[in-house]
Order: sequence, then C-alpha cells, then structure tokens
Amino acid sequence: MKDEKKILFAGDPHGDFDPLINAVNQHHPEAVVLLGDYDLKKPFEHYVQSIVGKTKIWWIPGNHDFDPPLHHENLFSSQLSKYGLHLKVIEIAGIRIAGLGGIFLGRVWYPPYSPRWNSKKQYLNRQASDAKSLGLSLKFQSAIWPDEVASLKKLKADVLVTHEAPRSHRHGFIVIDQLAEAMGVKKVFHGHLHEQYSATIRKGIKVFGIGDAMVSDLLGNNL
Ligand SMILES: [Zn+2]
Repeated sequence: MKDEKKILFAGDPHGDFDPLINAVNQHHPEAVVLLGDYDLKKPFEHYVQSIVGKTKIWWIPGNHDFDPPLHHENLFSSQLSKYGLHLKVIEIAGIRIAGLGGIFLGRVWYPPYSPRWNSKKQYLNRQASDAKSLGLSLKFQSAIWPDEVASLKKLKADVLVTHEAPRSHRHGFIVIDQLAEAMGVKKVFHGHLHEQYSATIRKGIKVFGIGDAMVSDLLGNNL
C-alpha cells in the first residue's frame, strides 16, 4: 500500500457508498474518513457492511444528517456512532486528524457576522422553561458553535476535516482557515459544496474540496 493511500477521504455520499466501497477494495486503506451528508434511510452500518473490518470508518456529520430525524437516528445511533470525529483529534494511521462537522447557521453563528449565541448552554438558558425541557432541536445541533470551535482551536493536528469550506471556496468561511492555521494542520479536506478542487491558503495549508460521492487520497488524488 502506498503511503498516500493509507487514509482515504469520501465526499458527501448522499446515499451512494459504492465509490467508497470500490476504493477500499482496490486500495486497502487503513482508514477512511467520511465528510458528511449520508442520507441514511437505514442504519449507517447497513450501507458499509462489506468494508467493516477491512478498514476503520471515521466520519463527521453534515447538515443533511440532522434532517429528517430518521437520518440523524441512523447515524448517531448506528454501530459506527463511536467513530464520530466532530470536535475531536484522533490519531488515525499515524496521522492526527481533527474533525469539525455541521454548518454555520444564521440563527447561531454565520461568520463574518458576530455570533448570536456563544454556546448551546447559553442558548438553552435563555429559552422559556417548556422549550428548554425539549432540549436542543436537531437544527441547532447541526450548527457550528463558537465555544466549540474555540476549544478545538487549542488542539494540534496534521489534517483537519470539515463539512463547511475554508475561504479557498467562494462559499467558504474564514473561521475554517483560522482554525486550520491555529491547529497547525498541513491539509484540510472538506465536503458539502460538491466541488472537486485543490487550493493553497495561508501558511501553505493545502485544501481539498471533495465532490459528492468522490473519494480522494491523502495527496488529494481523485480515485
Ligand atoms: Zn452539506
């Protein structure tokens, strides 16, 4: 196995996991990292059964993984739920990978505008008690929260995977660039925008946008 193929990155499957499964069978990576938006009508493991045990399957959530609720349930209550990378740094095949799933949501934080809320706790504390008892809606759970980005920013990693894009994409956010820079990563892989491209941002950080259901290796080669 070539070193650059020890981890593969999968762009938004939206229900189509065949390209990922084919890439795993062809290249035998130690791990794969999925970049969100799965559209799971059945539990996650149902779709990737044939590669479970052949490789490690890590993932971050996209916006489509919170709506409808069944899609959320099929990811967050799946047998693979513990391999979520959101807000974590995990050493995978010798590489420290940081994850930031979800999206910037106008009702919470839409950079460069100031955040409307800093944390889930602050938001919930300001709700009426009947609303508070229901907890955070799935919509709000899909949001990127300022205090969580601030905590992640204190950690170090080699690679950052996000659903949202940095400013290398016209629909990207400078907050992602700043996060990548603060964490000292060399590469960012993102999904969500269904565009395959590579770019270089500040500090020479390489960004790879992965198209929908596309699979890329550590060098950004499209497989
Ligand atoms: Zn998305």
